[in-house]
Amino acid sequence: MGRGAGRGLTYSQGVTDPELQEILDRAAEGDRITAEQALAVYRDAPFHALGRAADAARRRRYAGTERIATYIIERNINYTNVCVTACKFCAFYRAPKHEGGWVRDLDDILRRCAETVELGGTQIMFQGGHHPDFGVEYYETAFAAIKQAFPQLVLHSLGASEVAHMARVSGVGVAEAIARIRAAGLDSFAGAGAELLPERARTAIAPLKESGEEWLSIMETAHRLGVESDWVLFGHVHRCGPLVGDEPADWLGPAGTPRLVNSGSWVYEPLLVHHASPPRPYWPGGAIVLDDGQDPRAIGLLDHLDAAALH
Ligand code: SF4
Repeated sequence: MGRGAGRGLTYSQGVTDPELQEILDRAAEGDRITAEQALAVYRDAPFHALGRAADAARRRRYAGTERIATYIIERNINYTNVCVTACKFCAFYRAPKHEGGWVRDLDDILRRCAETVELGGTQIMFQGGHHPDFGVEYYETAFAAIKQAFPQLVLHSLGASEVAHMARVSGVGVAEAIARIRAAGLDSFAGAGAELLPERARTAIAPLKESGEEWLSIMETAHRLGVESDWVLFGHVHRCGPLVGDEPADWLGPAGTPRLVNSGSWVYEPLLVHHASPPRPYWPGGAIVLDDGQDPRAIGLLDHLDAAALH
């Protein structure tokens, strides 16, 4: 129990519950843990014990290069804030015809790509609203132009929600939409639109988005077509992220994680909603009240859980 986690520490140090200790041992030894075990760890494991178990799993997985940590320089380019989807947590979007709406033209987008390259950046996150006129053709044009001017840039962009929207606008299926934007230059999906897949939470925060089931299905299609993804935005309507609440199994159980991991999602990237930007009450029912008591440890816990549970 609690075998070496580096620098003389054991990963179960501080863990008093033998069951938790066993789960951490299993994760650190490289065994996949179950959804229920992951939830128990998330709720009850001491932060540093989980971190040490995650580090042990990482060292095991990347034996030989475990002392190397890498990073990339990425630029997020927002191409428009005009959106028809009106998510209740969103402070970014403006409804069509709103005076605050804008669209960035291609020259501006390419200028931002050039700045990214000059600063040593290697990746672009192309992200924006669901503009009512932007079908597959818009993204094909933008991605092809970026790749032609800067073939060295990785386009890690969009996600199931944008695909669902662009396919609808263009009147094509999602598989065709994905294949076309991939052919135009998309390298991987950023997993946008994954802000809580369980129906209750999704209906509360993003009632006009595709359902959680559709989101999963689109991502699986993308993975089948060779487009990998990362995923997860959390912190909207749960005190401590999506895993604590009344639908944790939807995230780490049959409906979520295994489907994504098995089909090709390679990064579980917990992205915490920034509550500093108040949601705007565009939705007829008014803005939802975000939970301002969420635990900032959640992002660290989820990162650790990623390393410990999803290897
Ligand atoms: S989060 Fe929702 S409302 Fe905001 S830009 Fe994305 S789809 Fe539109």
